[in-house]
Formats: sequence, structure tokens, C-alpha cells
Amino acid sequence: MKITPIVEILTITITCISTVACRRNDPSILIIGAGPAGIAAAARLLEKGFRNLTILEAESRIGGRIRSVKFGDAFVDLGAQWCHGEEDNAVYDLVKDLDVLKPSGTSKKFYHSSGERIDDELSHQLFDIMDSVYSANGNRLVSDDLTVGDYCVRNYNRTLYQKYAHDKRKRELALITIEYFHHRVLSYEGSFSWFEPAARNDYRDCAGNLMLNWNGLGYKTVLEVLMKKFPNNSRALPIDDKLFLNKEVTKIRWKRKSVTVVCADGSIYLADHVIFTPSVGVLKEKAFTLFEPSLPDVKNQAIGNIGFGAVMKVALLFSKRWWREETGFSFIWSENDKWSVLRDLPDDPSWLGRSWVTYLYAVETAENNPNVLFGWFTGNFIPLIEQLPEKDLVDGIDYVLKKFLSRSYQIIKPNKIIRSQWYSNPRFRGVYSFQTVRCRRGKGDTSANILAAPLTNVEENRPVVQFAGEATHPYYFSTVHGAIETGYREADALINLYSKHA
Ligand SMILES: Cc1cc2nc3c(=O)[nH]c(=O)nc-3n(C[C@H](O)[C@H](O)[C@H](O)COP(=O)(O)OP(=O)(O)OC[C@H]3O[C@@H](n4cnc5c(N)ncnc54)[C@H](O)[C@@H]3O)c2cc1C
Repeated sequence: MKITPIVEILTITITCISTVACRRNDPSILIIGAGPAGIAAAARLLEKGFRNLTILEAESRIGGRIRSVKFGDAFVDLGAQWCHGEEDNAVYDLVKDLDVLKPSGTSKKFYHSSGERIDDELSHQLFDIMDSVYSANGNRLVSDDLTVGDYCVRNYNRTLYQKYAHDKRKRELALITIEYFHHRVLSYEGSFSWFEPAARNDYRDCAGNLMLNWNGLGYKTVLEVLMKKFPNNSRALPIDDKLFLNKEVTKIRWKRKSVTVVCADGSIYLADHVIFTPSVGVLKEKAFTLFEPSLPDVKNQAIGNIGFGAVMKVALLFSKRWWREETGFSFIWSENDKWSVLRDLPDDPSWLGRSWVTYLYAVETAENNPNVLFGWFTGNFIPLIEQLPEKDLVDGIDYVLKKFLSRSYQIIKPNKIIRSQWYSNPRFRGVYSFQTVRCRRGKGDTSANILAAPLTNVEENRPVVQFAGEATHPYYFSTVHGAIETGYREADALINLYSKHA
């Protein structure tokens, strides 16, 4: 299917004729992106005997927003980390008999910026209040115009005033904990502020344990299972033969009989069908130049309405473990201490009077990796924090760890760090999608369904460009299991189309 630029004009005609002529038996299918949606689509098509496949991936690796890196004693995940649930979950279904998943939980230990540890009873109460407020925010009774932030601020504060009406110290501590609550919710939503996602939304949790980790093997395991490389490589699907890395697609011409796909390196591909899987972040930035002719207005509107922000993780490897059996630490800043950082770190970046270091809201341990901690950052400063020089990042994290924990622990600096840069990377431009209030205003279909609708060849009423990827899932958006289901969905659409012609 590939054509080199020099002989482009002549060969386009020849290849176009040959691909269209053999379409009935073996259509040429081109998948853009080798993340979970793209790999799932390829695996499903290969299993059903479709062989004329090409996968183009812009990065030098497969996996997309699954990125497991060997670091310390095990793999750490800079992207997707947990399998969220057990029932009706494509990830869980793929690996449930392989003994690779392990339950994990969130650490419930709060420390105050004065260095004081908040007692366990109050810490647990505050976590319970946050969890119950956040989990009720999708409630059917909530208005479509309300954001997650509107809902959480109102109900969190109301609960605190009732519960701690007669205990000023607890009430004041609980009130400043709302900033931590905000940061944590941003890691669930993937937005820059909790005043962006809609409180009432279509997201569904799968039943069962929502926090299953990969026990040090990394989320990449699910990709190996999809490709049938794990647990027994001898049955591997021939995906590697179909895959081309470092192939950034820059143009998709879709109005002719065959779709023409142009890459940044000048190579050109023709296909009967294209399955497009890159993120909404990529679409927001490039849809207008990528598609020729442009996408229909309704699709562009959906791309604009779907939310997409960022979360940042930093894995820290220490020469020795300085913490004990804890699974993590959560940080609560007082207003005074937030100002004192500006004095202590006068040259560090700040925004509206707040230093970047105050965006580090928790550190957590890593599975099967005794000397590794994960630092979590969320909020609108992420684009800048992702770009900080490594030394500044290490010094800032060290400052926070010492400020909060040095009364109880002998803190040392990490020897090595590795960070995520999902927002800065033009192949992603963020982490995962969410429904904004705008997504819910239209009376018709949801933005995810509009985004998922294929571009069709009008003469033949045939899908020519199909859309998969987490953001096209109507209720499992933002997850790997959602992304995999959308890859299966688009592959099945082609399998059904050709089974009718067989
Ligand atoms: C920090 C983080 C934490 C997460 N945590 C979890 C979690 O715990 N559990 C969970 O279920 N999900 C989690 N997710 C979400 C999950 O990773 C995504 O929903 C899922 O990976 C999306 O898969 P996808 O195939 O839709 O897209 P992607 O994984 O983004 O794959 C799309 C592919 O397209 C490629 N591409 C982009 N542009 C081009 C181009 N022009 N030409 C060719 N190729 C291109 C990209 O390089 C990429 O490989 C997390 C994500 C992040 C970033």
C-alpha cells in the first residue's frame, strides 16, 4: 500500500485501482495510532482473517497513553496505571486468568505544611467526606449546568460546617483541605480546573475493584495480551509486520474512492478504510489541517466541546527507602506556608501568587518497587511544570518532602527521576477526555457519539474514515477499557460490512 513520493502521481493511480478492485475480499485498512484502541482494532481484524492492514504510529514506540518504563526494580506507569473495575471491563476480561492484577488503595495520611501529621481519625473522616461528595456529583438530580467544582465546593463546605460546627480547629483544617480535594479530583477528571467538567455526566464505573494495579509488570501487559505475545509468544498475532513507527500522519484526504494518507516524512498510503485513533488533544490542535476536506461542522463542534487537560506524574528513585510501611503521603498547605514558599524559592515559577511546588499534592509508593515514590501534580500549571529543568524539579520536590515530612523522616534526594510530559507532547496534548457542560447542552447525540460517527463515501454509503479512541466511548471515556472497546467496535463494523458482501 505504501508509495514513495518520487513516483507518487503514477503509482497512486495504479495502487488505487488495485486496492479498490480487491476490496470485496481483502480491503486495505489503515489504522492511525498504536495505542490501546489501534492495537485492539488490529488484533480483532487479524483474528478475523483481514490481512491487508497497516498501522502508522507517530511515536518511536507503541502503547500511546500506556507507557510502562523499567525504573528501579520494576516497571512504572507514566500513563494509565489501574484497571478500573472487573465487570464489563475489556481489560479485566483479557487478563483475569493470568494472575497479573493486584488490588491497591489510596493512602489516607495527611500532613500539614507546618510538618504536623494529621491524626488518622480526622484524615479518614476527611477522605470519607471527599469520597462521598465526589461520588454523588454525577447524581441524576444535579443540573446539567453545574460543574464538578460547583457541586463539590458547595457540598463539601456544607458537610464540614455541619460536622465540625463545634470544633473550630478541625473545621479550619478541613476547610483548607479543599485545595487537596480539588487536586485529587483533577487526577480523576484529567482537567485543569474542576470548574470545567460537568457534574452530571455519562461516565460509568465498572462494578468490582476500581484500583487494580499491575504488580510491577506495567499496564503494557494488556497490550502484550491483546497481541497474543503474553503469556505465550508462539501464538503472537503478526501485528509487528503491519506496524510502522515514527510515521506521523499529516494529511487525510477522504473524499475520493480510496483514502490518501500523507506522513510527515513524505510517504503516502492509500486505503479503502482508515481507523483514526489519536486523542482529542491532537484533534483540537490539528483537525483543521489534518482532514481534507475539513470535518463536518458538527464534528468540529464536538471536538471543541469535549474537555481535555493534563495530569503529571514524576517517579523518584532513592538510593534507600526513607519511609516505612506507609503507602503514601498527602499534603495540606496553609495560606501562610504557601506565601512562605515564594520567599524561600524566589526564582521559581509562580502563578497568581502560588509557587509551582504547591501543585505537588501527594506522593505514593510503587508496586514491587521498594525505593520508588510517585509524585502527583495536577492543575493549570502543568504545562509549565512539565517543562522545568530536571534539577529545578528535583529541588522543588525535595523542598516539599522536607517541609512536610522531615519531622518524622530522614529525607534524602532522589538519585534518578522520570516524568510524564503528556501535555507538551504533540502526539497527545493531554491525558484523557471529560464531558464539559457544553457537551450536555445539545438536545441530540452526545459529543462522544458525534465524534465516533464515520466519514462516509456518499456514492457507495461506505465508511471511509472511522473514529476510535477513548473519547469516542459514550460512557467508558478516559479509560483503557473504553479505548479497547472502541477499537473492537470499529473493527467489528468492518467485519460486519464485509461479511455482508462475502
Ligand atoms: C497520566 C495518565 C494516567 C491514566 N490512568 C489511567 C488508569 O489508571 N486507568 C485507565 O483505564 N486509563 C488511564 N488513563 C487513560 C488511558 O491511558 C487512555 O484512555 C487510553 O490509553 C487511550 O487510548 P487510545 O488508543 O484512545 O489513545 P492513545 O493511547 O493516545 O493512542 C493514540 C496513538 O496515536 C498516536 N498518534 C497521535 N497523532 C498521530 C499522528 N498524527 N500520526 C500517527 N500516530 C499518531 C499516538 O502517538 C498514540 O500512540 C491514563 C492516561 C494518562 C495519560
